[in-house]
Amino acid sequence: MSLTLRPYQHQAISELRASYREGARAPLLVLPTGAGKTVVFSAVSAGAAARGRHVLILVHRRELITQASAKLAGAGVDHGIIAAGFPASDQPVQVASVQTLARRLSSISWSPDLIVIDEAHHAVAGTWSAALSRWPNAYRLGVTATPVRQDGRGLGAVFDSLVLGPSVSELIAGTFLTPARIYAPPPIADLAGLKARAGDYRPEEAAERMDRPIVTGDAISHYQRLCNHKRAIVFCCSTQHADSVNTAFNQRGVRAATLLGTTPADQRDHLVRQLAAGELSVLVTVDVVSEGFDCPAAEAAILLRPTQSLGLYLQQVGRVLRPADGKDAALILDHVGNVHRHGFPDDLRDWSLDDRLKRSRNAGPPAPCVRTCEVCFAAFAPAPICPCCGTPAKLSAREIRQRDGELQELARDAVARSRRRDVGRARTLAELLMVAKNRGYSPGWAYRIHNARSNRR
Ligand SMILES: [Zn+2]
Repeated sequence: MSLTLRPYQHQAISELRASYREGARAPLLVLPTGAGKTVVFSAVSAGAAARGRHVLILVHRRELITQASAKLAGAGVDHGIIAAGFPASDQPVQVASVQTLARRLSSISWSPDLIVIDEAHHAVAGTWSAALSRWPNAYRLGVTATPVRQDGRGLGAVFDSLVLGPSVSELIAGTFLTPARIYAPPPIADLAGLKARAGDYRPEEAAERMDRPIVTGDAISHYQRLCNHKRAIVFCCSTQHADSVNTAFNQRGVRAATLLGTTPADQRDHLVRQLAAGELSVLVTVDVVSEGFDCPAAEAAILLRPTQSLGLYLQQVGRVLRPADGKDAALILDHVGNVHRHGFPDDLRDWSLDDRLKRSRNAGPPAPCVRTCEVCFAAFAPAPICPCCGTPAKLSAREIRQRDGELQELARDAVARSRRRDVGRARTLAELLMVAKNRGYSPGWAYRIHNARSNRR
């Protein structure tokens, strides 16, 4: 086997094994974008195949088949592919496009012992459940960077336990990911009142607000000021929006191209190579590069699509966190308030298999604590000075309360409580007059309380 695993990938695999030993049948492994989940599930599949098991690996996009297939080949695992244009074969490991598999279900005569589900946050959709319910007794292994559905519902219907890999901040500390500098200039677009459908803003409505020359022009100015000539990926709301943004970049002398769902595979590869080589500075996309897109050379993400989906946000910014030579930090230019909505890419997340929607309806999601520097627009966690330009930060009243801490709050509470107690203990007018004297209140205060109590009796 020639797959080289990183220490945390070994660790994840041994934790998965432990969870199966403890009785899990369908664990969901959470690995941040860029942590190499394809390598991990390829190694698991290789191990299962070596013990004579049948493994079915489900992916939901064609380009993910190529990735998985290449990693399996690297691990020396002979495998077949179930996708349009590939002949059926009988190897014990099969990589399947979920759409093709759903169409061919009735013609498949073998049963997998293990079903691996890549990008497992999609696994509750109709095509997936058809494939999964065909083999209810197979063990499952889900892998995802964001174990929530786009609509916020949990994945507890498909998986029975969570195995958490390293966090983004641990991967940054280990130099497996690049730290990010985030700029969040006040959005020029009017995003108030955007409506959501299935847990996210309606793309056409978001596009209408974002696809305006003044908004695009502002984003390009910030790009030229903050990261001119750096390789960037721009995330737009719609194909038409991407076309306008692409045109505007080129008109301003920045070499840009669009990379869309309809872009043929060979042209995609060509564009990615051009970006890596510096022949292009900017790739403009909608969501084709959100998942399964590898371009470590990309140094900046420009966010022009407001999203309520934490998963989509993390997938997008995750594209530029991959380390590469000469890249000391990734830049994220957020023009749509996503950082304020979802927090920093390396914030610790409290993942769960439960429906987040239910929880957030009651409690509301915790608002991330993000400050924006008034001078350079850097977004940072509350700190006395801007970490980018050193400007002293003006703290909001809420942040001052948070910074000076619970202690002061508690102290105030304790004083208030003890005061209520000594007023409560003062039974007679004479005792109330004594409390008033001790606190420097007027005698009238004692009379008012005494009268109020007499009236109540
Ligand atoms: Zn600053």
